[in-house]
Parts: sequence; C-alpha cells; structure tokens
Amino acid sequence: AKSQGRNNFQMFGEMAEKGLGKTEFDTRSRLAQAIRDRQISVWYQPLVAARPHRNGGARLAGVEALARWHDEKAGWISPAVFIPMAENLGLIGELGDLVRRQALEQFRHWRTTHPQLHIALNISKRQLFAANFIDVLKADMESWGIPHTAVTLEITESVAMMDVEFADERLRQLSAAGFTLSIDDFGTGYASLSQLHELPVGELKIDISFVRRIHSPEGLRMVQAIVSMAQALELRTVAEGIEDEATAATLRKLGVDILQGYHFGRPCTAEEFIALPLFNPAPALHSA
Ligand code: C2E
Ligand code: MG
Ligand code: MG
Ligand code: MG
Repeated sequence: AKSQGRNNFQMFGEMAEKGLGKTEFDTRSRLAQAIRDRQISVWYQPLVAARPHRNGGARLAGVEALARWHDEKAGWISPAVFIPMAENLGLIGELGDLVRRQALEQFRHWRTTHPQLHIALNISKRQLFAANFIDVLKADMESWGIPHTAVTLEITESVAMMDVEFADERLRQLSAAGFTLSIDDFGTGYASLSQLHELPVGELKIDISFVRRIHSPEGLRMVQAIVSMAQALELRTVAEGIEDEATAATLRKLGVDILQGYHFGRPCTAEEFIALPLFNPAPALHSA
C-alpha cells in the first residue's frame, strides 16, 4: 500500500487499524485547513519572578506563548491534542511558524515598555530536528528586531532525550546563537545527571505533577531534590501549574526562580495580557 500512494480509502483503513474514528479523521482535515487559513491563535501566560519588587508586588519576568485552536464544530481543542496531530500530519513546521510569528509580533511591542521580559516558545520534536529550524528562527528574530537572548525555547525532556546525540548538536547551535534552552515537563522523562550536565541548557521547568504533590512530605522532598540539582548545575528553575499562594510560598522558599500558574494568571489573549496588573504594576506608595 505504501508504494501505491495514499488515497482516502487507505487512510481510513490505517486509521481504523489504529482505532481512530471518523471524528478524528475530520478533526485532522480541519486542523490542516485551520493552519492553512491561519486560524491558530496564541495565548499568553505570565512567568513571574520568585523575588518580588521592592514594594512587595509580583514582578513579571516573561511570558509563555501557548497555541490555541477554536474549531467551529468541536469548540476549543487542546494543544495536547492538536500539536501531536500537526506533528503526525507533517504540519508542525507551518504551525510553529504561525505561532512564533504572532508571538514575536506581540512581544516586540511589549518589549518597548518592558525591555527585561523574555518570551518562551514551545518547540516540538520535528521542529527542533527540521534542517532549516535555526535559520528560520534567526531570520524571524532579525525581522522583528528581537535579541536572541530574550527568547527561551522550551523542549520537553523526552524530546531532548530521544536522540541525544542529534539533540545535543542542535541545542548546542541554538545555545551558541544566544537562545536560552529550557527542559519542559522536567521529571517526566529520563534525563540522567550527566546528560543534564552535558546538554547546553539554561533552565529546568519542573513538571506540574511535582508541583501538585508538593504538600506531601515525599512530594516536597522531590521538588527539593530537583531544585538542589538544578542549582548544582547552575540552571534556572521554573515551576509550572501553581494554583494557590501556599504552593507559591513553598516554591519560593525552596529557591525556585520563576513561578507560573493559574494563581498568577491563566493563559489569555494579548489584549487581556497587557491589561493584567502584573503588566501594569501600581507605583509604590512609599519608595524604599
Ligand atoms: P506546557 O508547555 O507544559 O504548558 C503548560 C500547560 O499547563 C499549558 O497547557 C497551560 O495552560 C497549563 N497550565 C498553566 N498553569 C496551570 C495551572 O496552574 N494549572 C493547570 N492545571 N494547568 C496550568 P496548554 O496551553 O493546554 O498546553 C499544553 C501543552 O501543549 C503545552 O504544555 C505544550 O507542551 C504544548 N503546546 C502548547 N502550545 C504549543 C506550541 O505553540 N508549540 C508546541 N510545540 N507545543 C505547544
Ligand atoms: Mg512549555
Ligand atoms: Mg511545561
Ligand atoms: Mg507541562
């Protein structure tokens, strides 16, 4: 069947074998259409410095760009669903370009008043491994006038470990070009200490599953261990999925550098983002 080319009938056959129904087939073709029509949008979630302003107010450190897709029939579809779909359809390159360019366009404006901010972009496996990835990325930075040092590339731990040799070479080129590399969902993959030491990464993003368990003694010790390891390797730490102040306080005490989660702000549109108090801190009543 492979050599005969792929008609719809064969595709349905394969999908049926994989247990995928007609709905999923529909979703796939609508995703392809949505990417072509540039209907994927970007939402933004604040990254907050663990050390607040001198007046005690939370300090915005950066922003993570998250892809969003609203389908007329199915409503909101999670990126956890459509990103892997785009990968399998060979459309992740286009999708990635679309998301990155929208995000950089916003970020360029935000930097004029907030020059200290960085932007975090999620990079999937095929994007990272695409032959032209670095060139396209550099060209975009140039067009939008954004320094490489203002950009963090989040790569999941499993991707970084998938083909360590190749990933290592890629990450080395990106790091040499001035981008910060972050290991996303850290703790869910299998990076060894020596690999972490070797890879040119600058940041570990502690997976939400650890943050959730932080109020149990073992959970606390796990996060403590990750933070000490990161500190030993001189890596910046970010904790994702923080939903309450008690969790934030514990993570600050453990020495995590950057905090993220619904407690500080949910992913939101660009308009909502710039309206956040975090983006517009009130002036101190009494300057110190
Ligand atoms: P991620 O990079 O680990 O992003 C964090 C996810 O956690 C986001 O889900 C975010 O909305 C969610 N989150 C943030 N704070 C909280 C919280 O306090 N509680 C809970 N329960 N969840 C929180 P989202 O936006 O659904 O994205 C899911 C995943 O899809 C991302 O995980 C990332 O791996 C992937 N993704 C999203 N956008 C892109 C993209 O543009 N490109 C690529 N390659 N992957 C993307
Ligand atoms: Mg991420
Ligand atoms: Mg993450
Ligand atoms: Mg995650």
